[in-house]
Amino acid sequence: MPHRALARSQGADRAVMRQLELVERVKSYDPSVDEDALNRAYVFSMKAHGAQLRASGDPFFSHPVEVAGILSGMKLDSASIVTGLLHDTVEDTLATLDEIERLFGAEIARLVDGVTKLSRLELQSDQSKQAENFRKLVLAMSEDIRVLLVKLADRLHNMRTLHFLKDEATRKRIARETMEIYAPLAERIGMNDMKDELQDLAFAELQPEARESIRARLAFLKEKGGNLGERIMVALDGTLEKAGIRAEVSGREKTPYSIWRKMQRKEVGFEQLADIMAFRVVVDNVEQCYHALGVIHSRYPVVPGRFKDFISLPKPNEYRSVHSGVIGPEQQRIEVQIRTREMHEVAELGVAAHWVYKQDGARNEGRQYRWLRELLDVLDHAADPQEFLEHTKLAMFQDQVFCFTPKGDLINLPRGATPVDFAYAVHSQIGDTCVGAKINGKLVPLRTQLMNGDQVEIITSKAQTPSPTWERLVVTAKARARIRRFVRTQQRAQYLDLGKAILQKAFRQDGHDMTDKALEAVLDKFRCETAEDLYVAAGAGNVTGREVVTAVFPPKPDAKPPKVVPLSHARGKKAAENAVPIRGLIPGMAVHYAGCCHPLPGDRIVGIVTTGKGITIHTIDCDKLAEFADTPDRWVDVAWNQTGDGDERHVGRLDVTIGNEPGSLGALTTVIGEQAGNITNLKITNRSQDFFELLVDVEVQDVRHLTNIIAALRATPVINSVERSRR
Ligand code: MN
Repeated sequence: MPHRALARSQGADRAVMRQLELVERVKSYDPSVDEDALNRAYVFSMKAHGAQLRASGDPFFSHPVEVAGILSGMKLDSASIVTGLLHDTVEDTLATLDEIERLFGAEIARLVDGVTKLSRLELQSDQSKQAENFRKLVLAMSEDIRVLLVKLADRLHNMRTLHFLKDEATRKRIARETMEIYAPLAERIGMNDMKDELQDLAFAELQPEARESIRARLAFLKEKGGNLGERIMVALDGTLEKAGIRAEVSGREKTPYSIWRKMQRKEVGFEQLADIMAFRVVVDNVEQCYHALGVIHSRYPVVPGRFKDFISLPKPNEYRSVHSGVIGPEQQRIEVQIRTREMHEVAELGVAAHWVYKQDGARNEGRQYRWLRELLDVLDHAADPQEFLEHTKLAMFQDQVFCFTPKGDLINLPRGATPVDFAYAVHSQIGDTCVGAKINGKLVPLRTQLMNGDQVEIITSKAQTPSPTWERLVVTAKARARIRRFVRTQQRAQYLDLGKAILQKAFRQDGHDMTDKALEAVLDKFRCETAEDLYVAAGAGNVTGREVVTAVFPPKPDAKPPKVVPLSHARGKKAAENAVPIRGLIPGMAVHYAGCCHPLPGDRIVGIVTTGKGITIHTIDCDKLAEFADTPDRWVDVAWNQTGDGDERHVGRLDVTIGNEPGSLGALTTVIGEQAGNITNLKITNRSQDFFELLVDVEVQDVRHLTNIIAALRATPVINSVERSRR
């Protein structure tokens, strides 16, 4: 007796629905159907799935066709049906999303991609504690509600064929997931038929004995009552007809699961018909709904407290009807539900019904968004606090992305998050040592923004430490705090090493030895607590070496101030010995490379102390050094590491002039590439009829590497001139 709006096949031995049958079915409610796309999708899916078999022994292809059939039962548009046919091709066959986009267009590709991503999640999240997150994720991902509808149809068919699966644990997991996630989702968007069937199928798997006993009880009650339901319907119909109301009366049995739930809540004993049946009166318009209600109320005794008007106050999922309990024609307590045809469709199909009523044939790009808006409206008008809360949560996770670890754990991040945020969310240690990331199996730059449903694999290296530049890559507070703390600690350590070297040098230059004891005597003067603090102050450039030396050894009043020669001007063996090695100093912390001259290992260099920032390294011939001629105190002799650590990359800058002709830019990049230089920036600074002037930043190991690149470029015909940039 239950009315089934959702198409269903009769038994596993039934042949796969034929192409023509499906097309005709869609045509019957949508005259503007894209027949060509449907036909092509049918054939594409059949070929793609080939000889694959379902657990039932049916060809796998029967599954997408059944899903398409269910969707056609919901009277959905061609795009949804095509998506139904294609929904497993990307995940389970050799077909690719690109192929689908090429053959069926961007809209279909986007829908198939959405369903595919949802299916992936399904495989990953088997922990029931994640159910709520997962449910939210499904909603968040269903930016186009059709993705969710196809997914629900997919799940429904899988549930209908669940008993074919041999592994009990898998069956139970799928059933639980259906009960916890998909049935509530279906209810959420008003698809009551879908919800009822999903719940009952899951119930059959999870509690077969309970369901069996309820079914036996139902059968017994039905037998005892004879064709009681039939007699009640006829009597109701007669009563309404006599009053001049044209109505369709039908009866609907509650599902074993909904009876079970009522019994669980101890609401009923399930003694009489009223507990298992509801009678529906479908009329033409709202006015007639209330008219019919009046007729029924005047003809049969009303059961107090059972009247509910969901027409004037619809349920949050848009369900509308008036419900009333009466002592019916057979002296049985019954529930009557009165509604219009449109309300009836909405009650059974939920949001899917809007396709039929509000979008009637209109083909426009905006309609999917309109549909989504309607869903959001439904959520907006949620009346009770529970619903409101639910909706607020929904709004909240629009700003979030949900990603997965390779093991399937859900990581919830704000929108805009990158793999670095992800790494820190998993574990601080993983964040600290993160060197790269794979998203859905593909290597990506660390600045890549994560998307919903992405599976993220973090590549770590023990040698890695957080870089100051990471702060620009992250959006989560946890990652930022951790990086900052690391940078600050690291910076202090670096300032300390640097400051110690600077002070030692200053003392030695003055002919003294530096001792901690000597420093301790002057700590107060520099507002430092320990000698280490003083090193840090010197390293950061807040205190100069000269100031400290002068404090420890005050000059005699008659002595001439010592003449300080910028060390680098007085180069020699001795100066080199005194040089502060920049080994181990991380660029961006205590040491910065000047943007004017881009010093490279192998260049002769000098450091300039910048208050509060450590030292800035310039090449010895940099024009900018003239600005510091008056402050010799700020000059620090620095030296590159003797043992070159080949991994470190530095940026060299080139001024290049090339001919304005086809292929010249290509030649430039090719030559640099062949020399293992990595171009990090390329800017056209001047452009004339014959020439381009370019600024090219190239990552190299050292000055020799850059010199090789320059030589190779000079040997290239289309390149007119190449110089190291001093800009
Ligand atoms: Mn499927």
